[in-house]
This record gives sequence, structure tokens and C-alpha cells, in this order.
Amino acid sequence: MQVFHSAEEIRQYRDYNRQQGLSLGFVPTMGALHEAHLALSRRAQAENNLAVVSIFVNPTQFNNPEDLERYPRRSEADLALLRRAGMDAVLMPSVSEIYGDQVKSEDLDLAGLDQGMEGEYRPGHFAGVATVIRRFFELLQPTRAYFGEKDYQQLRVIEHLNHSLKLGVSVVGCPTERNAQGLALSSRNFRLSEQGLRDAEAIYRAEDWARSQWGKLSPQAIKEGVWQALAASPLRPEYLEIADTRNMQSIEAAAAGQKARIFVAAYCEEVRLIDNLSLL
Ligand code: AMP
Repeated sequence: MQVFHSAEEIRQYRDYNRQQGLSLGFVPTMGALHEAHLALSRRAQAENNLAVVSIFVNPTQFNNPEDLERYPRRSEADLALLRRAGMDAVLMPSVSEIYGDQVKSEDLDLAGLDQGMEGEYRPGHFAGVATVIRRFFELLQPTRAYFGEKDYQQLRVIEHLNHSLKLGVSVVGCPTERNAQGLALSSRNFRLSEQGLRDAEAIYRAEDWARSQWGKLSPQAIKEGVWQALAASPLRPEYLEIADTRNMQSIEAAAAGQKARIFVAAYCEEVRLIDNLSLL
């Protein structure tokens, strides 16, 4: 497994493989890898000649400096996992390799997909995500790139970015990986106690209830029920939305042709967790 730290090494790897006519599957991550990252990586391996993972904790997508500082980092364990999984290459550039001496986001038009939910509660988050993904797409020019539905709004933002800037990558959305109790796998779960992990299951339970009520109760009544369930649990809900995934706008009344999902952000033991579930 090759490990690249500089932008120049990544360009050389790209050009060499392009000359050989090899397809390249790319999985961008922030490290602290778990089974969901490996599921994306396996899909990249299955669908491409070469599979590449990046590990880069992107400073510009953190609106809160403490959150950035506390984000779990475990690069040795990550590299061992990726080696065992048979990945071809890992990109681990420094912040200056990606940003030079200007660590800031570009002003990109994200068609309003970045406005509500994560965009509202983490101002600047998607500008940071779009900036770093654009940079990686341009550096590596992958054939396909794999993103989890766990971060659904991010997936939609990147699909738009890729399309509007004609970056030429096939963006592939992959289903959310959950544990047996339904809790979405997340690097942030590493910061939860055993009790916290059990408490966090309330998110999926509430979403699953919402799905069972879709078409029976109004979106507003479903949101109220979910909010009450979460507020009565040890979690502290931050936002709750039922949105149409085509434009990420809130759904006030169910209508034909919608692709409705419920989106939740909640704190558990001071760790901020997000999840979403298709209601259809
Ligand atoms: P992260 O390291 O959290 O930035 O995640 C890297 C990629 O893995 C993103 O595309 C995430 O959406 C995806 N991912 C993280 N957790 C999950 C999960 N539980 N299921 C599916 N994809 C996930």
C-alpha cells in the first residue's frame, strides 16, 4: 500500500495510472476509520482497478475550533486497517499541502443545498467540505468517489459541486452502515461511553417510528413526536427536519414525487451526532 503525503506525489500517481488506463475509486475520510469506511472502501475496490482512501481532518469544515481539536485521530490504527483491507494507496497530506498558507474556504455556489440543517447549525461547514473535495478531485481525478448517505446533505452538496464545476467524477452514494441496534457508525462514537452508545440508539428508534408514521400523520406531527421522544431521552436534540432530498427543503405537507427523509442532529454526552433515514 502506497502512502502519499504531498500533492506532487498524488499528481504523479494519478498521471501514471491514467497512462496505464486504470480506473480509480476514491474514498475521502477524516480518519478514525470504522466498518462504514471499510464498506465504502470495499465498494471502491470492487468497482475500480485501484482503490484510494484519503485521511485528512479538514480544518475549514469545522465551525467550532474545539470540535476540530477533539476530533479523534488515530492514523497508525487507520493505516493498519487499510493495509489489511488491501487498499492500493492512502493520501495523508498536511494542511499546507492542501491549502498552502491560506487555510480558508472558497466561495462556491452550492445551489442552496448547503442552507438548512447542517448548513444552518454549522455555518461555513459545507463551504469547507466543498473546498477540500474539489481540491482532492482535481488532484487525484478519480473515476468514481464514494460518499455515505449518513451525511446525506454532504452527498447532495458534492453531487451538485461535481456537476456544476464539471469535475468529471462519478459520485456514488452508499447506504448508511448501522450497528445491530440501528445506531449509525461514526468516528464520533469513539468518544461515547458504553452508556452513551446505548443512549444514542434513541436516534434510530425515533427515525424508525417516523418512517412508520409517514403517510399517516402530518410531517409536523411526526416531527413533534420525534422531538418529544428525543427530548425525553438522555439526548439533547439540536434540529429535526423532514426534507425533500432533491432540494433539501423542508416538507410541510406530503405530496407525490417527494423523496422524503428525516434528518436529526442531537448531542449525546456532549458529542454531536447526526443521522437520517428515508421515509419512503
Ligand atoms: P468521515 O470520515 O466521517 O468524514 O466520513 C467519510 C465518509 O464515510 C463520508 O462519505 C461519510 O458519509 C461516510 N460514512 C461515515 N459514517 C458512515 C456510515 N455509518 N454509513 C455510511 N457511510 C458513512
